[in-house]
Amino acid sequence: MAGEFFLKTYGCQMNVYESGVVRRILADAGFSETRDESCADLLMMMTCSVRSHAEARALGRLADFRGLRARHPDRLVVVLGCMAQRYKEELVEDARVDLVVGPDEYLRLPELIRQCRAGTRGIVAARLSSECYERVQPEPDNPVSAFVTVMRGCDNYCSYCIVPYVKGRERSRPLSRVLEETRTRVDGGVREITLLGQNVLAYRDGRQGFAELLRAVAQAAGTARVRFLTSHPRDLTDKVLHTMAEMENVCPFLHLPLQSGSNRILELMNRGYTRAEYLRLVERARVLLPGLALTTDIMVAFPGETESDFLDTIDLVQQVRFDSAYTFRFSVRPGTRAAELEPRVSAADSGRRLARLIEVQNRITLELNRAMVGQEYELLIEGPSPRGRGALGRTRSGKVVVLTEPTRPGTLVRARVTQLNGWTPVAQLRTTTNHNPIRPNGLSAGSKTL
Ligand code: SAM
Ligand code: SF4
Repeated sequence: MAGEFFLKTYGCQMNVYESGVVRRILADAGFSETRDESCADLLMMMTCSVRSHAEARALGRLADFRGLRARHPDRLVVVLGCMAQRYKEELVEDARVDLVVGPDEYLRLPELIRQCRAGTRGIVAARLSSECYERVQPEPDNPVSAFVTVMRGCDNYCSYCIVPYVKGRERSRPLSRVLEETRTRVDGGVREITLLGQNVLAYRDGRQGFAELLRAVAQAAGTARVRFLTSHPRDLTDKVLHTMAEMENVCPFLHLPLQSGSNRILELMNRGYTRAEYLRLVERARVLLPGLALTTDIMVAFPGETESDFLDTIDLVQQVRFDSAYTFRFSVRPGTRAAELEPRVSAADSGRRLARLIEVQNRITLELNRAMVGQEYELLIEGPSPRGRGALGRTRSGKVVVLTEPTRPGTLVRARVTQLNGWTPVAQLRTTTNHNPIRPNGLSAGSKTL
């Protein structure tokens, strides 16, 4: 018996997907997973380096792992992902990690674990390559909705961002492999496919770009919903928008990171668009895709951001009216160009700006959610509602809605929103539009209907 592993994941959806890759590699090598870290032979962590806060949380958890190892010294502490790539030997020397494995080295995990067990503690494997894990079918994370990575790495070098340094050069997975994974997931009962990449719009396989990929995936997905993240505004073409509009199962949803509403800051960030171009893009997308939901990422307190730059961001947020936004305070990432830029915004100013941005966006989100009351939506049921007896579903545009009736995950229903509970729309069932919910074992219960 190879042993039991415990795997904690930090960071974005791409890390969730890559944890699935690691799970598959370990399962194929005879390891089994445990949810109970206190009895695991391998204490593993998939890490994120995008902001210092994410790193601090992971380092805190590593201390717990070391405590568990102290009681059973034959256990191994293993760090994977961005921090492994970034800190390499430092993790062995400072955090006493037994095995450090970067994002392109997961296929070597079983062999590296064997070497560690044979007595070589403190191994570092962190060579970047063009690895795409083409032959690995990741373990699913969710029986209703699946991530499928289409590209890895990033060549954009936004001046604040660590990703190009820790995830390597941009490379796309073969289209045939993406389609195969999509079909496997849909045949396994999944009702929604989310294509993933740091910038999916940069996808390329020979002459096929993202629009061709999206069309092919939408066809392969049958009646399952298709969405994708993340879209760099500079690369969003009419061709992609038209493909979204033509393919019925592609959801009217775009995650289009803005970062800043100030032209001066956008240029310092190396984002490659202006506020006017961003606004034109949003206008175009909304014309071509009625009912489009737009979400975004916004950063405050980039070095040199003045009050007037910040107010440009607030102004743009008010003009666009995003459905929701992930908001961040600039975090210095040593080694990036922005780490050298001056002047830094004070902690007091950055805190105040972040709070103001959140307040403005929260009001917009609430207004948009209020406008849902009285409307009918198609919901894909994802699971039980956290409180109460109902279910949690998602509209085609990606909004989370509480359904008052208990309903099996994987069911598609039509429901009318009757009220908000805090922020969250609450809906009552009208009709069930498919009859193939996910069975508890994750298998589809019947043929497709819509
Ligand atoms: N590739 C995606 C894109 O270009 O939009 C995003 C990738 S990044 C992992 C997710 C978000 O983290 C970014 O959109 C940005 O808002 C934020 N982020 C990245 N680096 C950051 C930093 N140094 N400080 C604060 N936020 C950061
Ligand atoms: Fe980072 Fe920019 Fe690449 Fe996104 S596009 S991963 S923000 S460098």
